[in-house]
Amino acid sequence: MIIVMKAGAGKKDRDEVVKRIKELGYKPHIIHGTTRDVIGAIGDERGKLVLQSLENMHGVENVLPILQPYKLASSEVKHEPSQVKVGSNVVIGGNKVVVMAGPCSVESEEQIIESAKLVKEAGATMLRGGAFKPRTSPYSFQGLEEEGLKMLAKARDLTGLPFVTEVINPETVDLVADYADMLQIGARNSQNFALLKKVGQCGKPILLKRGMAMTIQEFLMSAEYIMSEGNQGVVLCERGIRTFETATRNTLDLSAIPVLKLKTHLPVVIDPSHGTGNYHYVAPMCYAAVAAGADGLIVEVHPDPERASSDGPQSLKPKKFAAMMEKLRLFAEADGRSL
Ligand code: PEP
Ligand code: MN
Repeated sequence: MIIVMKAGAGKKDRDEVVKRIKELGYKPHIIHGTTRDVIGAIGDERGKLVLQSLENMHGVENVLPILQPYKLASSEVKHEPSQVKVGSNVVIGGNKVVVMAGPCSVESEEQIIESAKLVKEAGATMLRGGAFKPRTSPYSFQGLEEEGLKMLAKARDLTGLPFVTEVINPETVDLVADYADMLQIGARNSQNFALLKKVGQCGKPILLKRGMAMTIQEFLMSAEYIMSEGNQGVVLCERGIRTFETATRNTLDLSAIPVLKLKTHLPVVIDPSHGTGNYHYVAPMCYAAVAAGADGLIVEVHPDPERASSDGPQSLKPKKFAAMMEKLRLFAEADGRSL
């Protein structure tokens, strides 16, 4: 249920409502709005009638059911789009389109530092790179693990770019959160509920990828797992879904952008690299994503894709990335935004 406070209600009224919600056995989540606060009461759906009685409390305007199964992620609870801060100076969901770029995997200190410098020069504001890799085959490169995280941290220190990197199990969440500015939940783990709960407690923003066979509703339920643990810093990432089509690695579902924009207040990022699996298709999907309202992009860029340990065929060479960024700027500006 959502408890909508009156426009003039003060902290005292709000505290009383929060106390009562807890007494009734629900978890309160306060969402501050521009004119009024709303409080989500999350818990057993069967207690709706009991919560309805909060309408009699001082400062309460009304109590409404949340119709969607996802609550904290729903635009019913929060109408204004959310902004998620990463590091000290990146905001996802604002007027700037955030471009995260870098190699699929961290391979060496030189490789990640070179990548960070060149993506920064082309205008990216975040670095990406995998240190723990969730590979389909156990015989493929699995990542440099903590050594890779140290290299990413060094690249950040040298360039000032905050970085996003994947975490693949609950046991390593604290370790990854010690180094990273943003934690990525990969497509293969997007319904690993133990992992989602754990990153919900880590205090860092989360880039949640859509699973390759996940409906939008299931995607938002995964976001809800993270948010219900107290972490509101969730950014949704569409990265392609499995269809009958084999010309591309996955089918990038660009219609997910307007659908998500209607159903949730969370920012939306597009990954055209895994979405298509082929560097030829990456730039057009970047332009289309921005034109359709995406808040950001995550793009694989490698200084030498032919020698990449993973995902070389879909990685852009530095020059191609820089050219893509130049044109992308025009699409962002046409939409009243900037890079
Ligand atoms: C990645 O970002 O390198 C990755 C493995 O992505 P996904 O989980 O979308 O396949
Ligand atoms: Mn990859």
